[in-house]
Amino acid sequence: MRMMMALIVLMTVAPALIAAPAKAQQPLSHIVEPGDTWSALSMRFGVEESRLKVLNPHFNASRQPVIGTTISLPGEASERSGRLIRDGNPGIIAVALENNVPLWSLARDNGLESPYRPTFFRPLIVPAEGTIRDLPPGVTTLEVSSSPALPGIALGIRGTSQQYTPDLSGHLDGLPLAFAAENNRFVGVVGTGAFFAGGEPELVIKSGDAPAWVQPWQFAEREWIYQELTLTGEAAQIDQEARDEERARLRELWGQITPEPLWQDQFVTPVATYLEVSAGYGARRSYNGGPYLTYHEGVDYSAYGGTPVTAPAAGQVVLAEPLYVRGGTVIIDHGLGIFTGYYHLSAIHAIAGQTVQPGDVLGEVGTTGLSTGNHLHWDLLINGIWVDAAVWQEQQMDCWLLEGLGRPCGTETPPG
Ligand SMILES: [Zn+2]
Repeated sequence: MRMMMALIVLMTVAPALIAAPAKAQQPLSHIVEPGDTWSALSMRFGVEESRLKVLNPHFNASRQPVIGTTISLPGEASERSGRLIRDGNPGIIAVALENNVPLWSLARDNGLESPYRPTFFRPLIVPAEGTIRDLPPGVTTLEVSSSPALPGIALGIRGTSQQYTPDLSGHLDGLPLAFAAENNRFVGVVGTGAFFAGGEPELVIKSGDAPAWVQPWQFAEREWIYQELTLTGEAAQIDQEARDEERARLRELWGQITPEPLWQDQFVTPVATYLEVSAGYGARRSYNGGPYLTYHEGVDYSAYGGTPVTAPAAGQVVLAEPLYVRGGTVIIDHGLGIFTGYYHLSAIHAIAGQTVQPGDVLGEVGTTGLSTGNHLHWDLLINGIWVDAAVWQEQQMDCWLLEGLGRPCGTETPPG
C-alpha cells in the first residue's frame, strides 16, 4: 500500500520535473506595443539590447521595434516592473531624490557599479508598479486601436499622462492626428485613406517642447474591389472642373476642427431600412475605361426613394443644400475632426448650424446629383481623409475614443 502511494506521487510529479528545464530554453515571443523600444524591452526582461537585436535580425537595428509585430525573447527572460525615465533625466542622484528611492539600490537596479558616475541621457528604471515602457515624456500609458493597422480605417491612440490635459500633437506618416484631452486622459485619431501605402509608417507624438517620440506601426494588407463604371448621358457631362470646385468648397468645411467629441454614443446606420449595401468603401474605380485613379469614398445603401435618412450620432450640421455632383447634401461635424455626409437626397430636412441628436431626420433618400438610382451615399472623414464608416461602426471607434477620455458611451443606464 505504501509503495503504491509512493508510485502515484512519483508518477504525478515526474512529468513536471522533466518538462520544466525544456520549457526555459524555448524563446518566448512578444507582440510589440507602443513604448516597447529596444531599451525598454532590455530593461523589462533583463536581456542585453545587443542580444535582442541578434535574436531579431530581420528588424532594422536603427529603428525601434514595430508596433504589432512579433519579436523573440530569450527563454531566460524574466519580467520586472518599473518606470522608465529618459529624456531630460537629470542624473541618478536627482532621480533617486525625486522618486524617494535609496541611491545605492537605484544604482544596483540599473546595473551600475556606483551611483557616482554620470548617467545623463541614459534611461533609468525607478521602482513602480506596471510595465516598463519608453513613452513620450509625461505619458504613463499608451495604447493603439488596431494592431496591426489597416489602410482606409480610423486609427486611434489613447492613454494617460502625469500632467492634467497634456499638450500633445502628432502624426502618422505625415497625416496629422486630432487630439483631445480631459483630466489625465488623452485620445488621438487619424484617418488613413484607401490609397494609404501601409507598410511600417512612423507614429510620431510630441509632448510640449520635448523631442518627438517615434515608433513604427505595422500595417496589414487589405483587399480592394476593382470596378469599371460607364457614365452616359448627364452623368458623363459632369466635368472634372465641377467636381474639383465642389470638393474644394467641402475641403474647407472638413478642415474646421472642433477640438472635442460632440457625439455621445455609438454611431447608428443612418437608414433604418434599406435594400442592400450596393457599394462598399474603398472600391477602386475606373470611369469609361480610364485608369483606377479614384476609389469609392463612402458606403452606398440602396433604398426606396423617400426613406428617412437620420443622424447616426450627435453633432452640428455644417451644410444642408443641393450640390452639383453630390445632389441633396447634409454634412455633420461630430467634433475631433470627424465629419459624416449624406448625399443624393431628394429632400433636405436639416439646416446649417442646427444641432442634431441621433435619430433626427436629415432628409430623404433620392437620386439627385451624379447618381443612377435611389440610394444613400454615406461618408465619414477624419481630418479630411475618407475612412470606412462600416468599419468605424464594427470597431466601435466611437466608444473607444469616448472611453479613452473617461466619458461614458452607450445608452445603458447605470443600475439603481
Ligand atoms: Zn456612393
